[in-house]
Parts: sequence; structure tokens; C-alpha cells
Amino acid sequence: KFFEKHRTQKRITEQFQIFSVSSIGLEDREWAYRSAGALLFYLDQTQKRQIDHLGKLDYLALDETMNLDSASIRNLELIRTIRTGSKKGSLLGALDKTVTAAGSRLLVSTIESPLLNVEQINDRLDRVEELYEDVQKQEEIRAKFENIYDLERICAKVSFGTIVAADLLSLKQSIKAFGELTELVTQSELKKVKEDLEYADRLEDIYKLIDESLNEDLSEKHSGRIYHFKKGYNVQLDEYRKALEDGNSWLEELAEKEREETGINLLKVKYNKVFGYFLEVPKSKIDLVPKRYIRKQTLVNAERYFTPELKEIEEKITAAEEGFETLENQLFRAIIEEIRNNISRIQKVAKICARLDLACSMAKVAKENNYVRPVVNNGRVIKACDVRHPVVENFVGSSYFIPNDVSLDDDERLMLITGPNMAGKSTYIRQIALLVLLAQIGSFVPASEAEIGIVDRIFTRVGASDDLSTGQSTFMVEMNEVSNILQNATENSLVILDEIGRGTSTYDGISIAWAISEALARRNVKTLFATHYHELTELEEKEPGVVNYSIDVNETKQGVIFLRKIKRGRANQSYGIEVARLAGFPSSVLKRAQTIMSELEERKPRDQQITFFLERDEQPKAMARLRETDPDELSPKEALKLLYELVGLANED
Ligand code: ADP
Repeated sequence: KFFEKHRTQKRITEQFQIFSVSSIGLEDREWAYRSAGALLFYLDQTQKRQIDHLGKLDYLALDETMNLDSASIRNLELIRTIRTGSKKGSLLGALDKTVTAAGSRLLVSTIESPLLNVEQINDRLDRVEELYEDVQKQEEIRAKFENIYDLERICAKVSFGTIVAADLLSLKQSIKAFGELTELVTQSELKKVKEDLEYADRLEDIYKLIDESLNEDLSEKHSGRIYHFKKGYNVQLDEYRKALEDGNSWLEELAEKEREETGINLLKVKYNKVFGYFLEVPKSKIDLVPKRYIRKQTLVNAERYFTPELKEIEEKITAAEEGFETLENQLFRAIIEEIRNNISRIQKVAKICARLDLACSMAKVAKENNYVRPVVNNGRVIKACDVRHPVVENFVGSSYFIPNDVSLDDDERLMLITGPNMAGKSTYIRQIALLVLLAQIGSFVPASEAEIGIVDRIFTRVGASDDLSTGQSTFMVEMNEVSNILQNATENSLVILDEIGRGTSTYDGISIAWAISEALARRNVKTLFATHYHELTELEEKEPGVVNYSIDVNETKQGVIFLRKIKRGRANQSYGIEVARLAGFPSSVLKRAQTIMSELEERKPRDQQITFFLERDEQPKAMARLRETDPDELSPKEALKLLYELVGLANED
């Protein structure tokens, strides 16, 4: 019933204070407003407080941004690393030089939804470029952000009613800083950035509202009380305050008078919550207490009294106190109400700030790490020189990271990358995916030049044995994910496959990897496939569009040296044993491995490997029988029978 058409319409018009759903262009999007309405009902029930800071409903067309699936977000470590789950070491970690929390949140959502429209991308790039060129302005702008608080949070607090006076002072300070920011930008040469800020609402009335009412220093206490409002803001409030202050002196005067009259020097006027005001006399001076004192409370060392005169003062003070508090509350609520009515204006400013903060962050990262502005177009070419991996580069140090080129187009669309373990295959294919992603979020890219024909989707899959983090039946997960790619990748997509097919037996794995590559190449999907199955390199001759690449290594007497340079052509061997040597294997084990390998190679001429692998008929009969068996289907008796049968078949084999 929460999805009901009329109810949801009504809920939405109430929430956003509009006449009908057509006011926000949703009249023909029935399921969009029905779900939005249901979501509002859900929030009503779960939040149990006001949600009017949700002031705007945007229809997000999925074809405006790239739909990155969660596996790709994880595999590319966009927001957090796979191993530790931390931001540090992720793309976000490398890119986040934002000053404000809102800027940082915007960066996350920006990374997760790259753009698909060349104009929008260039629009962002223009801003980044301006800030990239003028480092000094960029720094000045960033400095202003230091004084801009999390306006989105303040807005949320306003509508939740959890806002306190200190938040309003933060708001005031932010508005002031925002004013300075717009001034700074307006007087600068930054063309596009200026467009965003020049005519921005500077919220001057809200500044004035807070400035005229609230005291700047809320830590300053006046005889135990904080005055939230400035003197002169409200006549009545000032009168209460006067009464409170006078009350204090009345009490002092009274105490002085009583001390003189009774001769009790140690007599004091005190206050506590339960008994109110009283005169306190130490036990030793009790003889001096006059008759007119009325006893209120007895302590071990003192007696407490009151007099009609004290009572009278007390009543005046209490009345002033109550009046003061009620009025302060009332005035505070009125201010909040006023701000609540203007919340969408503050949200707009918050958004402008977050965007500018993000653009500055991108410019700063680009400058510090030598990124360039990519040429982004609707062409079908992805071509870049000296591409680096933004995270690994930071990690190993930019002078140690070996940059590589990339060139993909309709003729050469599937790069099949072989090379020993640890050569840098995974790093390479990921850095190309990140290159494209960065360009499409409107960021500069880690390369010396880049031309990016935008892609509609980026898919990234990592072979099961690499993906230990999930702890599921990893091969099944891998196959599921690849199946999703095969169904959804278009000729405008970019697919990154790392060691796909490794989670099963070699023959199986090669066959699957082979078929996947073939299908992707035929569908004209731009693909980078890193694999240690050398057999796949034969695809180059058989399948148009497939090109072999390998990552160079130098073989020396001491072992292999990784050059990290990608070049055309296949790698000649897997070097697995060499990697084992680097890892410090005992030499006896290494020697033994080498002997076994030579024996195997003699037995199986390389050229025949593939055909051999794919020939199912040559499987042992017992194996074939086993493969067609589903153990869950067998009764105990049948299982035993099968065992006899298998032993028989094995003997025949
Ligand atoms: P593979 O996938 O071939 O097994 P990886 O891509 O995991 O290899 O790379 C192994 C290590 O080599 C990485 O952890 C990284 O530190 C380093 N590395 C990779 N590529 C480069 C490069 N271009 N320059 C410098 N170091 C690199």
C-alpha cells in the first residue's frame, strides 16, 4: 500500500511543496514517483522525525552516468582496498585532497558514477584545468574552505531539530567564508569557476539573522549562565537579564546587611537546586542567629535559614529565570524556523562549495603527480602514452614506476597480455581501466598524453584464486561475473580480465578463457586480458582484433629481472620457477622442478597442447563416468555400485 499511486503522489507533493508530480517532471514516470513516495513513507516510519531537509527530488537517468557494478568497484579498489578495506591505498585515497567533508563525499559519488557525456566531462575538465594553471588561486580558494563547515550536515540538523547555537555560529562563519570565496573568485581570471560563483546566493540575510541575534562567544558565563543572545536583540529578554543580574546584587546586599546586624562574619547566601536560596551559618556561630531566621535545613557543620526578605528576592529571581529561559527558547526556535524555510538555498551553496572543493582537489592531485588533461571524445580509440597506476606509483615512488603506453581501437581491440607472475600484468590492466575512469569523472590522468573515446561501461574481473577476500565458492562467483560481462558488454565497453579461468583445472581453465576471449573479440569489445596461459597467444593468428602483448623481463644468470615494460608479442615461458627462485626456494627443490618441467615438455610438444587439452574423448573412461555423476542424486546402494563400476573402468583404462 505504500506504493499506491495517489498516496505516493500526495506524499511527494507534501514533501517537496509542489502542486503535483508534474511540477518536477515525473508525471510520465509513474514507477519513479511511486518508489520515491514509498521511500518517503519508509523514512517517516524509520526516522521518526522531520525530514524536510530532503528538499529536492532529482530524476537520475541511468544513461547519464556509468553503471559501475560492485565487483568492478571492489576489484579496481576505487573506494577501499580489497585486503584491508581502508581508503588508504585505494583510488579515492590517492585522489582525495579535498578540504571539506562534503567535498570528500562528493568525490566518492563522483568516482562511483563516471559520466557518459563528452560535454559534461569537458565542462568539469575546464574547471580543473583553470585551477591547475593557477596554483596560487587554487591554494587561496582551498584556504577559504578551511572556514566552511559541513553545510549539508548543518541543514540536516536544522530539519531534525537537533541543531544547537554553536552550529548556527558555524553556519555564520561559513557564510562569511563563502562570501570571501565568491569575492576571491569573482576577481580572478578563472573563467568557468567564476561562472559558478559570480551570481551565487551569498545568504547575506541568513548571516545577518544570526549575526544580529547570537552572541559570538558561547563559552563566556555570566554568574553561571550562558547568554545566547546579544544585548539589544530583544527588549523583554534584556529586562529578564537585568532582573537576574540585579538579583545577584540584591542577594549580596542582603548578605552584607545580615552580617552587620548579626555579627556573623561567616554568614553566606547560597543556592542549591532543592532548597533554593538560603543563609548559611556555621555551627559555631549558631548562638548569634536572631529569632526572625526560619530554619530550612540542618547540616553537620552548619544550619541553613531563610527570611521573608530573602524569600521575596528569590521569587523575583525565579520569575526572571523562567521568563528568560522560555523567551530564549522561543527566540531560538524562531531563528531555526526562519533558516528551515531557507534550507534549499543553503543546500545550493553547499553543493557549489563541494564541487569547487573537488575541482581544486583534482587540480592539486594533477599538479603534484604530473597528470595531463585527457582529450575526451566520442571516438572509438583509447590511446595514451606513459600511463601510470595512480596508487602503485605513489606506493613505489614516481621515479621507480615504469610507465607504459596503450593503444586500443577497432582493429586492435583485445590485448592479450602474458608474462611471468609479478611482471606487472595486473597493475597494467588496472591502470588502463583507471585511466579511462579518471577521464570520465572529469579528472586529469596519470599519463603524458591521452585520447579517450568514452566507454559506456567498465567491467573488471579477477580470477578466482586472486580473489581470496570473499571466501565464497570463488570459481562459481567468477563464472557468474564473467557471464554478466558476456551478456552486458557492448562494443563501447571496456573489459579488464585478470587471470580468468584459473580457478579450475588447467584444461578447463584454458578452454573457458579461450572461449571468452573469442566471444569478446568477435563482439568488438575493447578488452585487456592478463593471463599466464600461453596457449591463448595462438588466438592472435586465429581471431581478428586480438593482439599479443607481454611484459618484458631480462634473463640473467642470477635469475629474471622484471623490466615492467609492455611490448608486442607473446612471452616465451611462464618463469614460474624463476619467481620461485626469487622467493628463496631451496636450490634442491628448484632443480627438481626444472627436471620435471623438461620431462613434461619432452612428452608434450607445445604445438599440440591446445588440441590435446580440448579433446574430451581422450579422457579416461572412469573420469568421464565421474563427471556425469551427481553425488546428491545417489542412494547409498547406488553409490556402492558406482564405486565397483569405477574400479572396473579404471582397470580398463
Ligand atoms: P602480475 O599481475 O604480473 O603478477 P602485478 O601487476 O601484481 O604482477 O605486479 C607485481 C608488483 O610489481 C606490483 O605489486 C608492483 O609493486 C610492481 N609493479 C607493477 N607494475 C609496475 C611498474 N610499471 N613499475 C614499477 N613497479 C611495478
